[in-house]
Amino acid sequence: MSVIKTPEQVLKMKKSAAVLADCLDILESEAKTKAGMTGRELDALAETFIRDNGGIPAFKNYSMSPGVPGFPASICFSRNHVLVHGIPDDKPIEDGDILTIDCGLSIDGWFADFARLFGVGNISEEDERIMNASHKALHEGIKACRPGNRLSDISNSIQSSIFNSRYENVLQFCGHAIGREMHEAPQVPNFGRPGRGITLKPGMVFCLEPMLLKHKVGLGVLPDKWTIVTLDGSRATHVEHMVLITENGPEVLSHGGNTRKL
Ligand code: MG
Ligand code: MG
Repeated sequence: MSVIKTPEQVLKMKKSAAVLADCLDILESEAKTKAGMTGRELDALAETFIRDNGGIPAFKNYSMSPGVPGFPASICFSRNHVLVHGIPDDKPIEDGDILTIDCGLSIDGWFADFARLFGVGNISEEDERIMNASHKALHEGIKACRPGNRLSDISNSIQSSIFNSRYENVLQFCGHAIGREMHEAPQVPNFGRPGRGITLKPGMVFCLEPMLLKHKVGLGVLPDKWTIVTLDGSRATHVEHMVLITENGPEVLSHGGNTRKL
């Protein structure tokens, strides 16, 4: 569909995003405060919350490519050395874990997709550092979401931030536009020279998703064909925000607490 959404369409996307933001707020709070919570329990909470609010979980049965089974859950639950696409399991969340909960939904056919990255309990300084660097890269990308900039200015801002943080960037996965489908063109890579790609205009909505590794390390996929892990078990992070380009600059749609306002 068109990369530029009409004000009416943007309003629908804001509603989807607000429900998802509240869903992720609940999941984050449960993961942090309820001892022994599992990914599978969080997944069940997410599915119930989404359906109770008139949404359809977008990840469940999502098919990436032929030969890969549909994703079996409503959230991606990526813990510690899992970079992305972790399948929720029955292993209790532990003190010191760092988690990314990524979730997507549609309401009236309009999609939202974003992820929270956070630690549970006592987090090591090293883990705090890589999470901070991940959020910084995300926010540098968001700052570039201004009309008149080019698409690769977002990519370059993320790349420069990761480079300056001295962590390793991940080139195999990327962000994307979003609307009537979860993944719309164009893609938003986490690297690239500035000044290329489409010119950003009000009404465009992008999902920015930087991913960081502690050091240069190979990635592998588990036999479930979804879970992407670091080969040496070192930490990997992923965070994602959904951002609307407005005349005045970026508007982040993935903050919580808005469901009842829309
Ligand atoms: Mg995404
Ligand atoms: Mg996502």
